[in-house]
Amino acid sequence: MGIDVSWYKKKKNNFSEPANTNLQTLNTIIKNCKKCKLHETRINTVFGEGSANAKVMIIGEAPGKDEDISGKPFVGRAGKLLTEILSSINLERNDIFITNTVKCRPPENRNPHDDEIKSCSGYLDEQIKLINPKVIVLLGKIAANRILNIDEPISNLRGKKYFIKENNIPIIVFYHPAYLLRSPLQKSKAWEDLKFMDNIITNHDC
Ligand code: URA
Ligand code: SF4
Repeated sequence: MGIDVSWYKKKKNNFSEPANTNLQTLNTIIKNCKKCKLHETRINTVFGEGSANAKVMIIGEAPGKDEDISGKPFVGRAGKLLTEILSSINLERNDIFITNTVKCRPPENRNPHDDEIKSCSGYLDEQIKLINPKVIVLLGKIAANRILNIDEPISNLRGKKYFIKENNIPIIVFYHPAYLLRSPLQKSKAWEDLKFMDNIITNHDC
C-alpha cells in the first residue's frame, strides 16, 4: 500500500507549523523532559518510531522494560505480535507511527498515573499534529480510557469511531497485543478490528 502523498501535503498546508517543531526537535525536547516523576527512573525516553507520513498512528500505554532499555516502542513480545497483526493487512512498521501515552517507563510496569499522562499529553498532541495520520488506533484500556475520557471496558469501545479536540482524525480502539498474548482466543477479534481500520483508511475522503 503506497502512501497518499498528495493527501498528506494538502492537509499539512492547512496549519502553520512553528518553525522549530518537527519530530526530531520534539524528540530532543522529550529526551530532556523532567515534567513528571517518571523521568527519575527511566533509562531512555521512548519517543516513538515510524514514518512522519504515516497513515496509521498507534498509541499504546507506556514503555516496558525492553522499550526502556532500547529507547524504541513495542520491541518486546507484544510488539512482535503487533507487527505480525499489522503485516496481515500488508502494513509494515514503516507505514505506521507508533508511540505511547507516556514516553518514560513507569516503575515495575505499573499503569501510568493520570497526572503523568496529562504531563506527557502535549507531546502526544504535537506528534499527532505533525504526523496528521488518517486514523489513530488506541491500544488497550488505559490508552482508550485516558485519551477518550470514557471509562468503559474495551469490548464496548471497539468497532466505533471517536473524535477528540479540534482535529477531525478518526480514533478507534483495539485490544492491546499484550492482552491478546494472554487470551489467544480473542485473536479473531483483532482481525475484526483490523478490517474496521482498513475500511476507514480506504474510505477516508480528504
Ligand atoms: N506495551 C505498550 O503499551 N507500549 C510499549 O511500547 C510496549 C508494550
Ligand atoms: Fe516528560 Fe512524559 Fe517522561 Fe513524564 S513521561 S518525564 S512528561 S517525557
